[in-house]
Amino acid sequence: MSTYDFDLFVIGAGSGGVRAGRMAAAKGVKVAVAEDMFLGGTCVNVGCVPKKLFVYGSHFSEDFHVGNSFGWSVENPTFDWPTLRDNKTKEILRLNGIYKTMLEKAGVELINGRATIVDPHTVAVGDQQYTAERILVAVGGWPFVPEFPGSELAISSNEAFYLEEFPKRVIVVGGGYIAIEFAGIFNGLGAKTDLVYRGPLFLRGFDNEVREFLAEQVKVKGMNLRFNSDIAKLEKQDNGELLVTFADGSTTTTDLVMYATGRKPKTANLGLENTQIQLADNGAIIVNDDFQTHEPSIYALGDVIDRVALTPVALGEAMVLVDALYGNGKRQISYDDIPTAVFSQPNVGTVGLTQEQAAEKYDEIAVYRSTFKPMKLSLGETKERILMKLLVDTKTDKIVGAHMVGPEAGEMVQLIGVAIKAGATKAHFDSTIGVHPTAAEEWVTMRDVSEIIKK
Ligand code: NDP
Repeated sequence: MSTYDFDLFVIGAGSGGVRAGRMAAAKGVKVAVAEDMFLGGTCVNVGCVPKKLFVYGSHFSEDFHVGNSFGWSVENPTFDWPTLRDNKTKEILRLNGIYKTMLEKAGVELINGRATIVDPHTVAVGDQQYTAERILVAVGGWPFVPEFPGSELAISSNEAFYLEEFPKRVIVVGGGYIAIEFAGIFNGLGAKTDLVYRGPLFLRGFDNEVREFLAEQVKVKGMNLRFNSDIAKLEKQDNGELLVTFADGSTTTTDLVMYATGRKPKTANLGLENTQIQLADNGAIIVNDDFQTHEPSIYALGDVIDRVALTPVALGEAMVLVDALYGNGKRQISYDDIPTAVFSQPNVGTVGLTQEQAAEKYDEIAVYRSTFKPMKLSLGETKERILMKLLVDTKTDKIVGAHMVGPEAGEMVQLIGVAIKAGATKAHFDSTIGVHPTAAEEWVTMRDVSEIIKK
């Protein structure tokens, strides 16, 4: 019989924590999960889920317009922000309830409150202390806003989900997933939107052609891109506007400034000083291949270890950990070929190596590339285009990267991910019959090599 209150005490009910807690409990392990904010963590409450709902909501402005070319006319469509915001919140509350039921049904004890680690086997929540054979830290991350004069006037994505009023003008700062997704949301919902990024081109680390193509596409949709730019100062004017001073001395006014300049592991005030846990320079908890920290009884996974800050990765890490501790045994999670989407407008979908990485790794790669107009837009005037590209290692014929900018790129790249994981070759793609008429059929009908790149 265990002398501890619990076999596993999970701190944080986000994607990784809930999955680990639920899976462990299903194996008969005595589990507690402590959470001080909201069940489901960032993804469900202030991340993936409400963001995607907003992306859907923001696309209607364009859909009404496209409808005209199919003979529909909608008189002056108007947008009501409180309806979208509050319907989204209702849906999130419903999901919170589902998470609660799911955990309870699995036999997990849910503890509401902020947990701190007292010693390697003890956690305190309020004035209650709990002992556990093992502790799992899955507390996620938190938006990071750099400090500068007036930075307190900027909001992060957390607040963007609950704005009192919808702004007429917005400046979004950053060049990563969140900045681009939110700039697209604000733009689609009708705000005059500027995206300010400190570098020459956003989405650093993505395929260069994808970055360039997306920049053109978001401009087509009316977004103003300000690259090589940074905000030096924000001041609130008497009329409520924000006066923005850029690093080059130029100024403008706006209604809202949102910073999406990265997220930091949320390790403050966790009681880590009571353990041997070590942190990396960026504040992430250091773990070994088995998600074990330098304190043998304490594990960590998800955004707090900052390997790949994606919900499905945290879920995968949780499954690996639970199997290793309580199930079928050790296995390693593969961080290669993770399919991912930026829910920009249009979407970016990407899996495998970028052209730059592939060119570095392989002696010779063949690039297959296709750009075309989306069929849905063919009856009207549009400058919108789709980009699809496949990267092939010519020695083995294996597909080593697939990239797309265009509607439903996120949906498509999920399945290309399976093909790449299975080691698919270009010949496999060529021998697959297309689904007609779809954009996806282009993946299996690109026959002409656009470019051969030799090392
Ligand atoms: P990212 O790390 O992706 O991007 C941060 C951006 O902010 C970069 O462009 C970076 O510039 C810039 N930046 C960083 N510090 C500063 C600064 N001091 N001043 C100006 N600019 C700065 O973070 P996000 O916040 O966009 O997203 C966090 C993570 O969440 C992502 O990495 C992703 O893993 C995950 N996510 C995934 C989504 C999805 O799957 N669709 C959606 C949203 C988030 P530079 O490039 O020059 O360093």
